[in-house]
Amino acid sequence: MSVTVVDHPLAGHLLAQIRNRETSPPVFRTLAKRLALALTLEAIRDLPTERVDVETPLERTTGRVLGELVAVPILRAGLGMLEAVTELFPEVAVGYIGLERDEASLQPQSYYRKLPPVTGRHVLVLDPMLATGGSGSAACTALKEAGAPTSIRFVCVVAAPEGLARMQTDHPDVAIFTAAVDRQLDDHGYILPGLGDFGDRLFGTE
Ligand code: URA
Repeated sequence: MSVTVVDHPLAGHLLAQIRNRETSPPVFRTLAKRLALALTLEAIRDLPTERVDVETPLERTTGRVLGELVAVPILRAGLGMLEAVTELFPEVAVGYIGLERDEASLQPQSYYRKLPPVTGRHVLVLDPMLATGGSGSAACTALKEAGAPTSIRFVCVVAAPEGLARMQTDHPDVAIFTAAVDRQLDDHGYILPGLGDFGDRLFGTE
């Protein structure tokens, strides 16, 4: 399985700020979006492009354009990364997968799924915290049930070794892009040192 830790200094700069417990939800949202932008640029670096003819005001030339792309945020925390992708690619098709973690079993429960066609398309799964890997794995399974994506790229802010191991076992074909691989999970499935509950910090629901 391919794991890319995005080591751009801007990604590290933004991550340090969103880890900070003093960062308020409005600032957290802005920083998370900027970080998602840096991660997305890395995640699509090797996507194939097609040649097109372009008429400039002066003459004819050629350019390269991206093919069809699908973004699938895992609700709800993945919403904090979606706007970065839709701003970069207004044509992107967006699907949603709603998974919530049962706090007792730590297993993902599905409560919503709405996906565009995925066959033959490159899919970006957006989920900021790859913790146990349960939700990430379930989302990738759902995408493979829905069709035959050309590729699935999993974009997260922080990954735990446990989540990476789970993805390696369940979906070794899925490439992972993250700003950091943290130390471990705690007994409640939170990433250490992590940044706390991403959804709560994004939406101010603590
Ligand atoms: N989800 C979060 O929001 N934070 C974690 O640390 C783990 C899962």
